Amino acid sequence: MNGFSIALRICFLIAMAAILGWYYGSPALAVIITLTCVLGFWAYQLSRVQDWLQDPEQKPPDIYGMWGDLLAQIYLHQRKNKEARLRLQSTVSYLQDSFASMRDGVVMVDQHGAIKWCNAAVESLLGLRYPEDTGQTLTNLVREPEFNEYFLGDQYAQPLEYCIVGDAKRHLQVQITYFGASERLLFVRDFTALVRMEQIRRDFVGNVSHELRTPLTVITGYLGTFLSDTAALPTAYIRALEQMEQQAQRMESLLKDLLWLSRIESEQREDNLDLVNISALLQELRDETATNEPERTIELVLASDHQVSGNYRELHSAVSNLLNNAIKYSSAEDVIKIRWEQRDQQYFLTVQDYGPGIDLIHLPRLTERFYRVDDSRSSATGGTGLGLAIVKHVAAAHGAKLLIESELGKGSSFTLIFPVGE
Ligand code: ADP
Repeated sequence: MNGFSIALRICFLIAMAAILGWYYGSPALAVIITLTCVLGFWAYQLSRVQDWLQDPEQKPPDIYGMWGDLLAQIYLHQRKNKEARLRLQSTVSYLQDSFASMRDGVVMVDQHGAIKWCNAAVESLLGLRYPEDTGQTLTNLVREPEFNEYFLGDQYAQPLEYCIVGDAKRHLQVQITYFGASERLLFVRDFTALVRMEQIRRDFVGNVSHELRTPLTVITGYLGTFLSDTAALPTAYIRALEQMEQQAQRMESLLKDLLWLSRIESEQREDNLDLVNISALLQELRDETATNEPERTIELVLASDHQVSGNYRELHSAVSNLLNNAIKYSSAEDVIKIRWEQRDQQYFLTVQDYGPGIDLIHLPRLTERFYRVDDSRSSATGGTGLGLAIVKHVAAAHGAKLLIESELGKGSSFTLIFPVGE
């Protein structure tokens, strides 16, 4: 029933009352009595609505007219709300059940960093217990400095990986995301098994490379002796022995690079930090190249004298790999540019060549071990396919990023970007 028809009804009642009152000689009294009756009726209906609202779980009373419509609408809204609430509750309990059964730890904290909920897995990972620790500040309960620094640092783009040394050494990864009103959700994962497997793989590659070196040295030794006096050899053997020596030398450089890579990967960096003078390192490499490759032109721009905290041999091998690639993959008349400079808040070490360049589709995979753009060309240049993998590992070990830019037919540039403070 809408407002207009209600007004119409009241007007009709008043008109009827006025006519009746006029007939009996007192229209005003008749109108007043009618209005009082209408108001009384409304007050009665209102009190029924109020009574029902005290306990809206009950079925609403049968009321005719405007109040009945109002009641029906309230009842409908209320039922819809109840259904939505039940749906939400079942979603929440479904999510809680799935989080609770996860092997990874899940913690929800409010905007002040206090624990709201956590699953059972967190007990063994972070030592938290639910519901006992609800409301406690997370950083008061987890004592690891790395964890607290990460949690309070508010920079969650990258996950935190850290190691706890308890009864056994464990590697944990923590990922944090914001949700709702500045609340945070933490996922904690134990990746100790993965680290162990990676260590086994690294040790295996290192050990195999090491074991293969001795027999290979013997083989190349004998081959060198045979080939030092080719006159004493039957002519049919000379070509075969030369090829054997060439391949043995290739294998030697491969083993050398593999050993170097596994050493860089397993280096305990804190013990081996020096201040490396990059300008001096680049000058040294330029001078070495001038001696070994006198026909090549190297342009060296040293626009910064910043020193990088790290390992000299590793940085030397990374830049040397980049320079060797620039030499290998460009022709003798192409100039090679090396720059060391500061831009904004970072330091850039760039090796640029004007060789054939690399198709963009190869760039994401270029630093993978043994990935080659053109196998025949790489084998001809004597590459091992490990050079850029070494560069990437050295960069990561020094907190630097490797940026590769290239255009087919125009050349390539490889840049190590060191953050300030490195
Ligand atoms: P390799 O020992 O084969 O040179 P790298 O890991 O150093 O191995 O390089 C991987 C591949 O990237 C190379 O095989 C080559 O195809 C490509 N590459 C590296 N540097 C350059 C460059 N400066 N110009 C063109 N291609 C390059």
